[in-house]
Formats: sequence, structure tokens, C-alpha cells
Amino acid sequence: MSDYEVAIVGAGVVGLACAARLAARWPGRVLVLERHEGICREASSRNSEVVHAGIYYPTGSLKALTCVRGRRMLVKRCRDLGIPLLACGKVIVASAADQLPALEELLAQGRANDVEGLEVIDAERLRQLEPGTRGVGALWSPASAVVDSHQLAASLEAEAAHHGADLVFGAEVVGVEPADGGYGLTVTQGEETTTVSAARVVNAAGLGADTLSTMVGIDIDGAGYRQYACKGTWWSIAPRHNHRLSRLVYPVGRAEDPGLGIHGCFDAAGGMRLGPDFVFVEAGDDGVDLSVPEAARAKFLAAGQRLFPWLEAEDLSPDMAGLRAKLVPAPKQWRDFVVAEESARGLPGWVTLVGIESPGLTAAMALAEVVGQRLSSS
Ligand SMILES: Cc1cc2nc3c(=O)[nH]c(=O)nc-3n(C[C@H](O)[C@H](O)[C@H](O)COP(=O)(O)OP(=O)(O)OC[C@H]3O[C@@H](n4cnc5c(N)ncnc54)[C@H](O)[C@@H]3O)c2cc1C
Repeated sequence: MSDYEVAIVGAGVVGLACAARLAARWPGRVLVLERHEGICREASSRNSEVVHAGIYYPTGSLKALTCVRGRRMLVKRCRDLGIPLLACGKVIVASAADQLPALEELLAQGRANDVEGLEVIDAERLRQLEPGTRGVGALWSPASAVVDSHQLAASLEAEAAHHGADLVFGAEVVGVEPADGGYGLTVTQGEETTTVSAARVVNAAGLGADTLSTMVGIDIDGAGYRQYACKGTWWSIAPRHNHRLSRLVYPVGRAEDPGLGIHGCFDAAGGMRLGPDFVFVEAGDDGVDLSVPEAARAKFLAAGQRLFPWLEAEDLSPDMAGLRAKLVPAPKQWRDFVVAEESARGLPGWVTLVGIESPGLTAAMALAEVVGQRLSSS
């Protein structure tokens, strides 16, 4: 018999959401292995903390379905547990008349995805909603929000622990072998190497998920699981502007914007940031450089001033950076989230999550639900 019913590799927000859900199904029989000394040390603590409404993604895609469902689950959890959630909404702003048709396209896409309350508004209404924002019109999305992602993740960790899950930190999975009808995981913890077995494994290792797939024998190029790191950086806006925005302000996509575009966002305390940008990066010997390059200041100032005429050069300071786990090596290519149970590759009970970029924070609890379904049908 295996040591555990399920081992989850990775204690980011997705691994923790899986742990909370699966530990309720198998109390005391779930293990979480995380190489860092605590939860959420990678993408899950380096994002905009935006609860996305689900507007942008193709209808019926896993991104659309889990974003919309995950948001509803997240909002309910925040209300039930008192986790800070700013129900601020968001405007997607057209800076010029030739961008107005794109607002109508986004409206139609969002409505097809079952996003509530969307409305195209004119420049006058935009001025009423966000007086400091420049634009000729906007899409108003009242369902978008900002969450305290640290408290959200901590609540998922606590729920998993409540159901008897073992969470082990500083524990890196370095090898995988078949064992006892399940999987034996070789784990290094400091100087020690041990093996632990589990009947099922959830690979929620974020940017490390393709490496873990290789360990279990999956050909990641054949499967389409190779991931590419795409860095996003933020610049903070001087505290004198705190609370200047009361809604998230995004640009409508311009041809040269590979992501959602550099936008204005804020945390629960009102501190404001601009970002993130979108730059594919390679890891060096010490991993990926997570510093914020000074050379990008002019790009951020230009993007910020397009939306906020009040923004001045001295308002910007380098803030932080995060890495998206993308399944494509270049901007403007689209892939859906992958949540795959691998019986067809001879790996029953092994679930792979790759390409869990934005809106992965919003979608985390719905992704965990999908993982639970994949394991039920395996
Ligand atoms: C720039 C940026 C902006 C974003 N903005 C938003 C946003 O506003 N809204 C939103 O919904 N989403 C956003 N996202 C996406 C969101 O942050 C991610 O989708 C989400 O955090 C992914 O969580 P995860 O648990 O899959 O990965 P991670 O948080 O990266 O966790 C994976 C964990 O696995 C561990 N691990 C890896 N390999 C091993 C191993 N071999 N052994 C043990 N442990 C291992 C890692 O240490 C890590 O802790 C953004 C992401 C970025 C980068």
C-alpha cells in the first residue's frame, strides 16, 4: 500500500487549492511537497492579485470556464472567511476612436463567457467613474476585483491541514519511479534524500511542471508540455497618489501589446502599481533574474501616461517581477490551461497541470475541482 493516496507537488495557490479539496476526500492521506520553505514563493506571490472576470478567453476554453467559476468560488470563500476582497471592478479603456470596435468585441466575448454586468461606456461616463483616466470610451466590468492573495492561500493551506494533509517544505522532488501500483517520489530535503509513495500524483509545480513531467517519462515536446518563462515587472506609483484610482484601469489591447497591456492596479491598502510587461526570458546558472530593469522606465511611463495624464516620471519606482509559465515561446500565440490525467500515457492517477499562467490565481479553486474530476474518472 502507498504511503499516501495523493501527493501534490507544489504549494503555490493551485497546489494548495488541490490540497484543500482532495484532503476533504482522503482525510489524513494527502501529502504536499514544496521545495521552498513556505507556501507561494513563486508565481502565486508575484502577480497583480486581480480577480479576473473571465472576459478575454475563447468561450468553452478551460481558461474561460475555470476563470468564471473560480471567481465565483473565490468571492464566496472571501465573504465566508473574511478574506480581504476589493469589489472595485475594472475599466478597459480605449485611448483612440479606432479602438472602440475592440470594446464591442470584448463585450460580446465576455457575455458569451457568462461574465456578469459588462457594459460599454462613453468618455463622459468613464470620467464619472474614474476622473483621472484619459480615454474615449471603455468596457466597464463590475465583476473584476482585487484579492489579498496571501490570505487566500493561507486559508487553503489551513483547510488542507484541517483535513489532515501533510505539508512538507524545503522538499524538492528530484525523481519519480513506479511503485506499489502508484508512484515513488525521490525527495531531497537539505542533505537528506528519501522516497515516498503515493497512489496518485498531482503535478502542480508551476514553472517546474515540465521538468517533473520529464521525470515521470513524458515526452514534453510530443505532449506540448514544454513551458517558457515570461517575465512581468511592475513599477510602483508614488504614495502621494494612493487611492487615486478606485477601479482597475486596463488599456484595450493594442497591436504591439502581447499581454493584457500595462495597467494600473492597486492592493488592498490603496498602494498603486503599473504593470506587468511581457518579456520572454531564459534561465541562467542562478535561475531567472527577477530584478526590475531600469531601462524599462520609459516604456512604463509612456504606457502609464496614455491612461493617466497626471503621472510624472518621478512617480515611478521599480517594484517586483514574476514569471508566467507559458506553453508558447512567443507573444501573440494562445494555448489553453492543460489539466490532464495521464492514463493514456500509461500513467494512471498522474495529473499534469501546465501552462497555468493568468488567470490561474482567479481560477485556482475551479482548477482543483477539475483535478478532482479527472481523478474520479481515472
Ligand atoms: C506577471 C504575472 C501576473 C499575474 N497576474 C494575475 C492576476 O492578476 N490574476 C490572476 O488570476 N492570475 C495572475 N497571474 C497568474 C497566477 O499568478 C498563476 O497562474 C498562479 O499563481 C499559478 O499558481 P501555481 O500554484 O500553478 O504556480 P506557483 O505559484 O509557481 O507554484 C508552483 C510551486 O511548485 C514548486 N515546485 C516546482 N517544482 C518542484 C519540485 N520539483 N519539487 C517541489 N516543489 C516544486 C515551486 O517551488 C512553487 O512553489 C499572474 C502571473 C504572473 C507571473
